[in-house]
Amino acid sequence: MAYDFDLFVIGGGSAGVRCGRIAATHGARVGIAEERFWGGTCVNVGCVPKKIMVNAAEYGHWAEDAAAFGWSIERTGFDLSVLKAARDAEVARLNGIYGRLLTGAGCTIFDARATFIDAHTLDVGGRRVTAERIVIAVGGRAVRPEIPGAELGMLSDDVFDLTEVPRRLCVVGSGYIALEFACVFRGLGAEVDLVYRADLPLRGFDQDIRVALKDALEAQGIRQHVGHNLARLDRQGDHLRLSLLGGEGIEADAVLFATGRVPHVQGLHLDRAGVMCTAKGAVEVDEEHRTTAPNIYAIGDVTDKLNLTPMATAVGHALADTLFGNRPRKASYLNVPTAVFTSPPIGTVGMTEADAAAHGPVDIYLTQFTPMRHTISKRPGRKSLMKLVVCQESRKVLGAHMLGEDSAEIMQGIGIAVAAGLTKEDFDRTIGIHPTAAEEFVTLR
Ligand code: NDP
Repeated sequence: MAYDFDLFVIGGGSAGVRCGRIAATHGARVGIAEERFWGGTCVNVGCVPKKIMVNAAEYGHWAEDAAAFGWSIERTGFDLSVLKAARDAEVARLNGIYGRLLTGAGCTIFDARATFIDAHTLDVGGRRVTAERIVIAVGGRAVRPEIPGAELGMLSDDVFDLTEVPRRLCVVGSGYIALEFACVFRGLGAEVDLVYRADLPLRGFDQDIRVALKDALEAQGIRQHVGHNLARLDRQGDHLRLSLLGGEGIEADAVLFATGRVPHVQGLHLDRAGVMCTAKGAVEVDEEHRTTAPNIYAIGDVTDKLNLTPMATAVGHALADTLFGNRPRKASYLNVPTAVFTSPPIGTVGMTEADAAAHGPVDIYLTQFTPMRHTISKRPGRKSLMKLVVCQESRKVLGAHMLGEDSAEIMQGIGIAVAAGLTKEDFDRTIGIHPTAAEEFVTLR
């Protein structure tokens, strides 16, 4: 049977765009549908606009620090609408680039929703389209907690519509999104309350990093309400009140729920194509990212594996090479470096101390210091922490963790060393770059 396309990709985010574009450059006839915005979460309501806001908050801190270096800078205010306009223009520019990348590679793009009719047939904005292979790359969406009044709170997408900084912001959760926005809005001048269920933020991260982060949040004046579950959210006159189980209540002008994301499979009619989901609602895939339907694949956040843009693009690229490039390969989910753009940021790669210790004895190398800039600025809570987790037997560096300025930039290079399986002695042999914070990673004793 002749199909309209060799490959049809549902979803124009990081995973789908890369997969479709590379498949087309390998000569496949590719169609790709996106119902909302090209570039997906990362470009439109995620990594990119978030990082611009992180930069905006940092400018405020730098302006304050500058006095200690001799500058007279008067901080007279911050106008979120100015930042929003610049940020929206940048996002629009990137949307255009994504569209042009696809058409330039020869893909046929559809600004429409695609849903399954059967395993080879889709309804794409009311048009019947057939494809030999189909890739599901529809991503995830943020969810509200199930409490009365939850609809009164914002989700992360809504943050990008704000034109004014809320005077009092309450953020719920202690994952990437909650912590990044708590720090951003604190930096932009809001009073911030952070509510979370555990005793430390960032579940799953190294314990020393979690402890240091909790201190850094406190030092910048973020009020942490620890070990709390939510009861309800109510409007009271011109503000909101978030009630916690046990009686405490927090008053705020805006509440942000950053309580997790779920795969965005609703209404795709996966059942019509024989595509099954896991108990947690992610599309079930094997190691090759093939779903339970043999001609259908799923990549990116919809598989809920490691929900990071670079992971999604790597998997999308590998799948396109495998299916159409005569180059079968898999992207590795091991030793993936990642950063949380808190203030200060966190960079991490490999195993936490607890995970590594569960596999065998480890040696820990750790340092905590005030970076040179802040020995002058005296800004509180700016201590950096760097830590290596080393296998006692093989001497391999199993994990590297940092909280501190530039940690995201530093960890990219350290990630290569950890992924390459280098030993502590390889680190020690490397000459440091002085004076930097990064040099501490090669001088830890
Ligand atoms: P996470 O899964 O990382 O965190 C969710 C948070 O919400 C946790 O603190 C969790 O608490 C809490 N939570 C969940 N349900 C409830 C509830 N009912 N009541 C109270 N608290 C609740 O999700 P995020 O939304 O922060 O981020 C999603 C993913 O997006 C991340 O895992 C990451 O992969 C990606 N991301 C990456 C970024 C980056 O690379 N810098 C930036 C932003 C997102 P508990 O820990 O107690 O379960």
